[in-house]
Amino acid sequence: MSADQRGENRYDYLIVGAGYAGSVLAERLASQHGARILLVDRRPHIGGNAYDEPNEAGILYHKYGPHIFHTNSEQVSDYLSQFTEWRPYEHRVRAVVRDKLVPIPINRTTLNELFGLDLKTDEEAADYLASRAEPVEDIRTSEDVVVNAVGRELYELFFQGYTRKQWGLDPSELDKSVTARIPTRTNTDDRYFADTFQAMPANGYTAMFENMLDNPLIEVRTGVDFKDIRDSVDYDHLIFTGPIDEYFDFRFGKLPYRSLKFDHQTLETERFQDTGTVNYPAPDVPYTRISEYKHLTGQQSPVTTITYEYPSAEGDPYYPIPRAENQELFKRYEALADATDNVTFVGRLATYRYYNMDQIVGQALATFRRMDEKRSAAPREAEVEAA
Ligand code: FAD
Ligand code: UDP
Repeated sequence: MSADQRGENRYDYLIVGAGYAGSVLAERLASQHGARILLVDRRPHIGGNAYDEPNEAGILYHKYGPHIFHTNSEQVSDYLSQFTEWRPYEHRVRAVVRDKLVPIPINRTTLNELFGLDLKTDEEAADYLASRAEPVEDIRTSEDVVVNAVGRELYELFFQGYTRKQWGLDPSELDKSVTARIPTRTNTDDRYFADTFQAMPANGYTAMFENMLDNPLIEVRTGVDFKDIRDSVDYDHLIFTGPIDEYFDFRFGKLPYRSLKFDHQTLETERFQDTGTVNYPAPDVPYTRISEYKHLTGQQSPVTTITYEYPSAEGDPYYPIPRAENQELFKRYEALADATDNVTFVGRLATYRYYNMDQIVGQALATFRRMDEKRSAAPREAEVEAA
């Protein structure tokens, strides 16, 4: 029975956003503190950007682009494993460069295939890369990181065009952390990620979120925007996981977020490409990558679903844009957030951090631990005050 039905329109927490940040906190607070939660999302579904659903052809696809789960945190994989079984999956990506399909991250195979070489060992590949690299003394930008590691030609072939399309900025205008996500390898490991835990939720992300939120203390309302209910719901504490600038009515101006348009297509063919994702770094191709879900999910079908990603300045905010001036603007919003009692800001949009799913789960679990400690300390503080 919902709180409304009981005539108790009162909650311990109103949580805005049913993605990882909001759902993990709802689950923790309900299961560990017995808290009553109202969880709202303005989209018509839970799961945030990780939402997946079967399309008309019955293929499980990701509405907001391909999501591959990977982590080095046992805490995070153990936590999520309460809500899902896993399908082992190691993501592989090829890039179309000079009409060849070569591994990205750049590895020994990439070098051999692209330049017609026969590098046989890690050492030979390392020496080759060292001969091309242009050492940068003070590595600050996304250009510096790559040019320093592999030199300008490989930088231009694999990174410059892709990054300009994806972010609408040259790599020299972006923080080094962006392209530093992609390592350079001297071996032939062609996995996109090197994390210790790499797997997909066996029945999909949405099913995992449904299990997480399956608690009578959690009431979920989708298709509901915070601004439409903020004055009519009675709650003690707010947890906000949407864009932080929006929460404060853009008081200091808009924080830049990058968006994407997804073109989902279902094709009458069993297999479209050989790897889960193919990247298209060339500047004259308007999309950045194409992903094919059946690689990720292992689903069998005579048809297949793929997604093209077209970067865009307009649309839903998907990526915070890591660069110094944006961080400065975020800091001003963060100071406002710190001075706002009874509201906790958590998640990729509210903390303006380019975090993967596992990092958001880790951030939400850490947020819960702080709340938990505060709660345990509260009675002691009251005793001290009384004494
Ligand atoms: P979100 O998932 O964005 O959830 C926030 C929710 O808040 C949204 O559902 C939104 O509708 C809701 N909301 C916002 N404002 C309001 C409001 N005012 N009222 C009501 N509801 C509101 N990570 C990986 O680990 N691996 C990947 O392969 C990967 N691939 C990605 C691919 C793409 C194209 C994108 C965009 C991201 C990818 N990520 C990936 C990152 C991953 O999506 C995020 O780390 C994660 O989903 C962030 O969770 P969150 O809860 O912080 O935010
Ligand atoms: N990148 C690139 N070429 C590639 C792959 C990645 O230039 O073939 C750069 C680009 O700036 C991209 C960033 O590295 O935005 C991070 O890539 P990742 O695949 O991690 O992006 P995400 O999956 O988060 O969109």
